[in-house]
Amino acid sequence: MISNSKPLQHTGAIVGRLAPSPTGYLHLGNAWAFLCAWLGMRSRGGRLIMRIEDIDPQRSKPEYIHALCEDLRWLGLDWDAGPGAAEPEHPCDQISDAGGTAPAHQLYQQSGRLHLYRQAMLELEKRGLAYPCFCTRKELRSLAGAPQAGEPAEVAYPGICRGLGPEERASRIAKGHNYSWRLRFQENFQERHLAFDDLVYGRVKLGMEQTGGDFAVCRSDGVFAYQLAVVLDDIAMGVNQIVRGVDIITSTPRQLFLYDLFDAPPPEYAHVPLVLDHEGERLAKRHASISLRGLRESGVRPEAVIGWLACWSGLRNEVALRSAGDLLNDFSFSAIKHEPDLLPPDIADILRDLSR
Ligand code: GLU
Repeated sequence: MISNSKPLQHTGAIVGRLAPSPTGYLHLGNAWAFLCAWLGMRSRGGRLIMRIEDIDPQRSKPEYIHALCEDLRWLGLDWDAGPGAAEPEHPCDQISDAGGTAPAHQLYQQSGRLHLYRQAMLELEKRGLAYPCFCTRKELRSLAGAPQAGEPAEVAYPGICRGLGPEERASRIAKGHNYSWRLRFQENFQERHLAFDDLVYGRVKLGMEQTGGDFAVCRSDGVFAYQLAVVLDDIAMGVNQIVRGVDIITSTPRQLFLYDLFDAPPPEYAHVPLVLDHEGERLAKRHASISLRGLRESGVRPEAVIGWLACWSGLRNEVALRSAGDLLNDFSFSAIKHEPDLLPPDIADILRDLSR
């Protein structure tokens, strides 16, 4: 199945990516999403890239890069380019925009690609597609009303700074007001950005309020937004299948819009269900006992992790020890359950027993 109303133009290689943020140890949920990205590529003979999404210097820690590569290799996954690739290809051959000042090995790390984001940002600004936004977080929060705990408010940015004249902008900047850069999404979007075909969930239709409306491409502290970086990187690296957690699905319209602005064909999307703990919470660092590292150290085998996830997700009917390769021959995104069960509270014990 091919997503989006705009036809895909990639007739050559299929390219996917693993795009972890090095902000902690990988957990069972990361293992599941990366397993799907691996299966999506390897089942079709595609190439897989490892790209480190360390764009936020406050949250990213270099020591986690080595750890995540180690954990994924332990799980039995491999990739063809980027940090930790088994037989790394020469990075400059693989990336279409390998210019700039970063050393070649950093081209698969967002922190080494800031010059490219800056260049694209300037272009968007020149084309009149981006505008400075002086709204503070506090102001935006009060406009949004009180969101449910942990839930992002489903309110589109009301466009307060969209219509400011050049003089007003210049005067605020001269006075030292902080500002982010937002994209004119709400005025320029098209229906095909809000409705697209997903390899797991089928036809998806989102409202403007779910996407947040005019979205930030650069924060007021100068950090480029995930939305911008991820699309530029995926275009530059020739990625044409994106597999990631369904929690990011509301980013997809914004990203489809960016593909259009950069005149690039959109990729296929497969959003996969999240692994939630027994209380329905997303996995996070506090779930240390079900980090891949924690599981491995307590005697769990990678085949137990994969075999259990395969049954939980609907890819297999019963739990058994399995390698990633065991799931390849009949792999299909459409077999994945849209709402799999919550994790049992004793999942670590279950995986340990299965490993015996
Ligand atoms: N780096 C993002 C994350 O760790 C994933 C981004 C994506 O797959 O588009 O959540």
